[in-house]
Amino acid sequence: MAILDRLPTRERLSRMGITTVDSCVLCNDYVESRNHLFADCTTATTLWKAILRLNHLTKPPMSWDSMLAWAITAWKDKSLLTSIMKIAWCTFIYTVWEERNRRIFQGRARTVEEMLSSIKEIVGAQLSNRNLNRLDSVNSLLCINWGIG
Ligand SMILES: [Zn+2]
Repeated sequence: MAILDRLPTRERLSRMGITTVDSCVLCNDYVESRNHLFADCTTATTLWKAILRLNHLTKPPMSWDSMLAWAITAWKDKSLLTSIMKIAWCTFIYTVWEERNRRIFQGRARTVEEMLSSIKEIVGAQLSNRNLNRLDSVNSLLCINWGIG
């Protein structure tokens, strides 16, 4: 849904005349579009930067389109790093959307740190039963950072 831009973001809902409130609940500063929510919003960029840091990667901030292009071209091999990036990006999108809904419908908010721990837990759990070469120094570092048991 995020890839197709079919999520009911406030920008889309206000275009359809369903709501007049179109601001992002994560920053209250910009119109809540898909591109804003998952790529441009400070909450999203801070969270994504923290995810990259766990993988010892640094990247300049990326637009939604360049993020997608990077995912499609770079995440092809069978390395642990690539598996983590794929799961982490999906979990990141899920978590940001969940957080947005939590704030709108339940009036509750989590910090970026709390969102990050929830992402770490999901990624760690998904990879825990995998057969990994833990003697590889990159892999063993990633296992520590992500709590892959
Ligand atoms: Zn925002």
